[in-house]
Amino acid sequence: MAHDIVLKNGLVVTPNGVILGGLAIAGERIVAVGADATLGQAKREIDVEGKIIFPGTFDPHVHFGISDRIGDDVMAEDFLHDTKDCLLGGVTTIATTSMIGEEPLVDLFDRAVRCGTGHSWCDFKITCIVNKVEQVPGIPAVAKKGVVDYKFLTGYAGRQAEAFGINPEGITPGFFYQACEQIARCGQPTFAKIHAEDPTVRYLLVDRLRKMGRADKLTAWAETSPEWGESLQLYAYALIAEQFRVPMYCVHLSAAHTVDTLKQLHGQGMRLIGETLGCFLNATAPELDAKGMDEKAKIQPPFRFEKDKERLWKGIQEGTITVVGTDSLTYSKAYKTRGDFWDCRVGVNLQFADTLPLLFDEGINKGRIDLVTLAKILSENAAKIYGLYPKKGALVPGADADIVVIDQDKEATLGVARMRSRADYSLWEGRKVKGIPVKTFLRGALVMEDGEIVGKAPTGKFVEQVMRPRGL
Ligand SMILES: [Zn+2]
Repeated sequence: MAHDIVLKNGLVVTPNGVILGGLAIAGERIVAVGADATLGQAKREIDVEGKIIFPGTFDPHVHFGISDRIGDDVMAEDFLHDTKDCLLGGVTTIATTSMIGEEPLVDLFDRAVRCGTGHSWCDFKITCIVNKVEQVPGIPAVAKKGVVDYKFLTGYAGRQAEAFGINPEGITPGFFYQACEQIARCGQPTFAKIHAEDPTVRYLLVDRLRKMGRADKLTAWAETSPEWGESLQLYAYALIAEQFRVPMYCVHLSAAHTVDTLKQLHGQGMRLIGETLGCFLNATAPELDAKGMDEKAKIQPPFRFEKDKERLWKGIQEGTITVVGTDSLTYSKAYKTRGDFWDCRVGVNLQFADTLPLLFDEGINKGRIDLVTLAKILSENAAKIYGLYPKKGALVPGADADIVVIDQDKEATLGVARMRSRADYSLWEGRKVKGIPVKTFLRGALVMEDGEIVGKAPTGKFVEQVMRPRGL
């Protein structure tokens, strides 16, 4: 029987190495991976002419519905318009956060799934933000529905926390303790996600630095967040999570100090997952100051310095940092740049289109990592942590046919002209890179080709668990 599609004459990036050949797709699944001669017949054969056949990537750090405006309607629009950039950048699965609210988690989750269904161009998971201690007993109920990760906005206190609807004392150890008790009841693969960064010293330094009126705004912003600030919370909350044997995932690690701390704690056997952002691996505060990026690159934690950037890369090489996300928000330029730098909301805008090309350029072309490692940090490891492997995260028989073909020789200039979302600015405008996704398949369907969305409709789905939470 003929397969639906065979991709051949490529370099296939599998979990165990790169092989010459291709893969066969039947329906939504990969049915064979190997040398061209072993793949069999297909209704459609695509000769990729030596290009790289890579697993569709999994971005586990996205925030829809909370940018210029906030609401379910905004979230649905973000899915509809802005996941097009996912296909452009080879992202076939995202995990995006539920709305920040006081309602039961099940309600927030159901609403988020409704926003994505029929609107998303890529598959998706929902990360539940746990904002109020009253929501904590609802964790097992929403875990039964397929939520594996629970985000705690540690790193905020006072007015900034209140703006998110958190009590002014922030996520206290007592709050987190009760949450870990509940997550532990659910068993694997459920886990806690935290934004580790001490808020109190940071607020003090923000007040001091904003008074100085420095022209190098992003460097000043970097100086508001002490290099030990992430480690302080990471360690405190890791101790609590570890008591309950709950894996703790630390989003957007930015500082060299934190990578050292994480490495030490891994040495003690703690179940900690370190994520950094593609943008942190590609730019520093002084570089972005030189480009006049100002508010557009104001993120928390901040872009830091060369030594931090290099330590993050080394963290990937040594296996301390295992996941790269984007922390994408759908900000417009007008919203982000109105008013004073020190008052503008934190966060970068859409990074889906650029993260794979940037990491290919900085990682592969500069010889920092190999293709198998790139696949692990952009796809495989997140899929494993979410209990979705090998349905997602690998080019192996039986997996969803989520595939990106990368032309390793194709050069491109990054920027808004290339993007297919509503983004009206880019942190990477004018940056030249080599190594560009030229085809994306979502569950067997060709949805992006040569920079254009060729899928007919947004067919992305909420991804059901492969691994069910053990305790449920
Ligand atoms: Zn985030």
